[in-house]
Amino acid sequence: MTTTPMTTTPMTTTPGITTPMITTPPTASGASGVRIDPFDYEARPVRVVFGPGRITEVGAEVDRLGLRRVMLIADPRAPGGEVLAAAVASRLALHWDEVAQHVPIALAERAHAAAVAAGVDGLVSLGGGAATGLAKAIALDTGLPILAVPTTYAGSELTPVYGMTGGRRKRTGSDERVRPAVVVYDPELTLGLPPEVTGPSAFNAMAHCFAALWAPHRDPLTSALAVDALRTAAASLPALVDDPADVQARSGLQYAAFLAGTALGRAGTGLQHRICHELGGRLNLPHADTHAVVLPHVVALNGPAGPDWTARVAPFLGPDPAVGLWELARRSGVPTDLARLGADDRVVRDVAGSVAHTPNPVPVDAVVLATLLERALKGDVPA
Ligand code: NAD
Repeated sequence: MTTTPMTTTPMTTTPGITTPMITTPPTASGASGVRIDPFDYEARPVRVVFGPGRITEVGAEVDRLGLRRVMLIADPRAPGGEVLAAAVASRLALHWDEVAQHVPIALAERAHAAAVAAGVDGLVSLGGGAATGLAKAIALDTGLPILAVPTTYAGSELTPVYGMTGGRRKRTGSDERVRPAVVVYDPELTLGLPPEVTGPSAFNAMAHCFAALWAPHRDPLTSALAVDALRTAAASLPALVDDPADVQARSGLQYAAFLAGTALGRAGTGLQHRICHELGGRLNLPHADTHAVVLPHVVALNGPAGPDWTARVAPFLGPDPAVGLWELARRSGVPTDLARLGADDRVVRDVAGSVAHTPNPVPVDAVVLATLLERALKGDVPA
């Protein structure tokens, strides 16, 4: 095996940051077969409390944050609202129970105004990405700390990414003020998640993993997290099809969501998320389901550019991970076509035009994307 020596120019420096300028990236591994590319690594502080039954510790976590006037944002369909309200009772300034996917701007503005009027000093969210997203929308302007109690596998609780929808467009961005300070995972809260939410939500977490594996800001830790999250999710989801009340498998999916969100929160998003945000914003499609349908097709597109990650996920997704994902979706009752979600030819062509030339390991134009999305629309096997 041949190696290409890496050459670097002297360090560039900006205040507080020193970065080697890589002029010739390595292209092959050495005799060891191991290849470590140059990377930057920067950890962000977040406290994670994980385990069945640990929702009871939220009161102590609120005290640890020093909060006195809490706004509880609780999805009424998620279990645990009453337990949480009791846990923070003496510090509860406002109980808010209206949440919606893709966070409509009008809803965010009302919740923000209520938070300001109540003089809250912190936000506790209970629910899936919709509840976490509403807390993030309030934190974006106010800088209020968030304690998130996730009840799906969306992974939003570990990222600095926010999204809001107005008209037919979804506005997304990244801001450290919206990254929760504390996350309490209690897998028992997900025991009642219906199968039609469980499977797509697991695929939402896996979409974060693949995005992190090929994102420009990936590093060895984000890749390791992504691979282990994929391994755990691929093992846990089929177990839940057999027994939705399997706490270990539920723990496995929340652990996967934790790793996936951490990896995505550091590595960043790309084509997969751009497509889903465009589709979701235009048609108000269910976010996790959209990720589930699109993911195998984007993995098929990028597979040829990723022999390293293809080999790393092969033990649990098979030699063709795109087909492995698609088959896992079929076995798990997860949607595999966008038509079923409400998309049509015109919308996928519009989306293909909007997201063309998004940076991606395999460069994409509108024609390539239209072909990819047509396959996703019809539910074809990824190719
Ligand atoms: P969601 O929060 O809407 O939850 C899905 C459904 O499950 C809803 O009907 C909800 O009421 C219900 N539900 C939630 N928890 C439940 C429980 N334990 N038991 C029974 N029902 C329960 O959807 P989601 O897929 O969790 O999140 C999607 C949203 O999150 C989108 O708005 C998406 O943009 C956002 N998101 C953001 C990021 C990020 O990093 N910013 C990452 C992933 C998702």
